[in-house]
Amino acid sequence: MNWNPLVKIIVGPAALLLGACAPLAAQGIPQSTPASPTTTAPSDPAPMARDALVWLADLIQINTSNPPGNEQLAAKYVAGVLQKEGIKPEILELAPGRSAVVARLRSSVVPEPSKALLLVAHLDTVPVDKSRWTVDPFGAVIKDGYLYGRGAIDDKGMLAANLAVFIGLKRTNAHINRDVIFLATADEEGGGDASIRALIAKYWDKFAAGFAINEGGNVFMKNGKVQYIGVQASEKVAANVSVIAHGTSGHASQPTKDNAVVHLAAAVAKIGGYSAPVRFTAIVRRYFEGIAPLEDDEIAKWIRSMDTPDRGEHAQRVVSDASPLWNAMMRDTIAPTVLSAGVANNVIPAEARANLNVRLLPGDSINTVVNDLNKLVNDPAVKLQVEPNAALAAPPSSLDSDFYNEICRVASREFGGAPALPFQSTWLTDSAQLRLHNVQAYGLVPFPLSDEDLRRMHGDDERIPLGAFDKGVDVLRKIVTEFAVTRY
Ligand SMILES: [Zn+2]
Repeated sequence: MNWNPLVKIIVGPAALLLGACAPLAAQGIPQSTPASPTTTAPSDPAPMARDALVWLADLIQINTSNPPGNEQLAAKYVAGVLQKEGIKPEILELAPGRSAVVARLRSSVVPEPSKALLLVAHLDTVPVDKSRWTVDPFGAVIKDGYLYGRGAIDDKGMLAANLAVFIGLKRTNAHINRDVIFLATADEEGGGDASIRALIAKYWDKFAAGFAINEGGNVFMKNGKVQYIGVQASEKVAANVSVIAHGTSGHASQPTKDNAVVHLAAAVAKIGGYSAPVRFTAIVRRYFEGIAPLEDDEIAKWIRSMDTPDRGEHAQRVVSDASPLWNAMMRDTIAPTVLSAGVANNVIPAEARANLNVRLLPGDSINTVVNDLNKLVNDPAVKLQVEPNAALAAPPSSLDSDFYNEICRVASREFGGAPALPFQSTWLTDSAQLRLHNVQAYGLVPFPLSDEDLRRMHGDDERIPLGAFDKGVDVLRKIVTEFAVTRY
């Protein structure tokens, strides 16, 4: 229908930029705007993936670095794409310049929210350090088979894939057996006043659903092959703790023993060397059972020994040392992240502070962690203080639901029989808030990605392999179709 004026402005430069960095014909990318509904055959997913790539490139060019986010521009762009397809989107205002967007395909006149399927992705991205990028982070540059740009994976890639799958259902007039809802959220990276917490508080009825697919899990590649598919069904919980040291301020020419900087540094050093006790949640236990046969014999032996009384502790150490991800999946973690002290080079400050970013296993208490750290630091000059706004722990999503089984079945089939394993992410997603509202939410970024690509996600030169993007769009389409479309 009507393009939002912004859409015209944005689509143009994207097509040009794609063209500027690589010959479009060589890349197999159309220079035209998305194909019209009548020309897209249901059995041919290729045009869908090409449209999705254009949308992704356009979205990368709309800078939604958070802070400040400014997601409204991207929300309007997405709304414009939906409108052009004859779908009626709704922009949901959250704060000045910050919006989410929702749209629904109805299966019947009587909505059944408990059956509905929600496709979720977030509009905002983490910021960039432009000086460390080899390309313009907002240029949507195509180079060597990759699309570069902030958000290419996290989470504009998934956003474009969701959009493609959702629009594909509309274009093909699919007989959906449940409402399918598209939701693009704001402030996911900040978790503040425009985040899904606010969205749920203000607009829950507009996207209430029984099932959701979101980011959170990944298709993990190893040695050029998909090793396994991690389907996120639970996530850790974040909290921040301040470490505050106090001492006597004075002239730096006459040092004293109660220097706050020295006490803080000693406390942070002790905390940095600390490992919290291991606890296996049901999901992590199943994850390790599934991963052991995929690893080499030596590490598999230790993974299988982690629960044994005689060798358990040693095995847990070996496995923790082998992978920061594994380490963080089996215990609460504490990472010192920010230090602040001092007003001048020649003044001993009265106070020195550090921030600890704590990630708790679901069900663990921040107070227990702080008690343990207090005993460890054991310094009356140092206090630990839990900062407000700690995230809430959510119950895990079921590993027996039809949707979970469908995700695992389709993904495993589409990725050459690689196993699909339940996954508890060490990072946060919007799914925790959905799970707190009885949504069976699962995380799967459907693109097969190497560790090297995954590492760039919040780092420099974020990029997505073009082939992985196409494959992911197709896999997501199959997951949604096989769950939500009635075949005759
Ligand atoms: Zn994300």
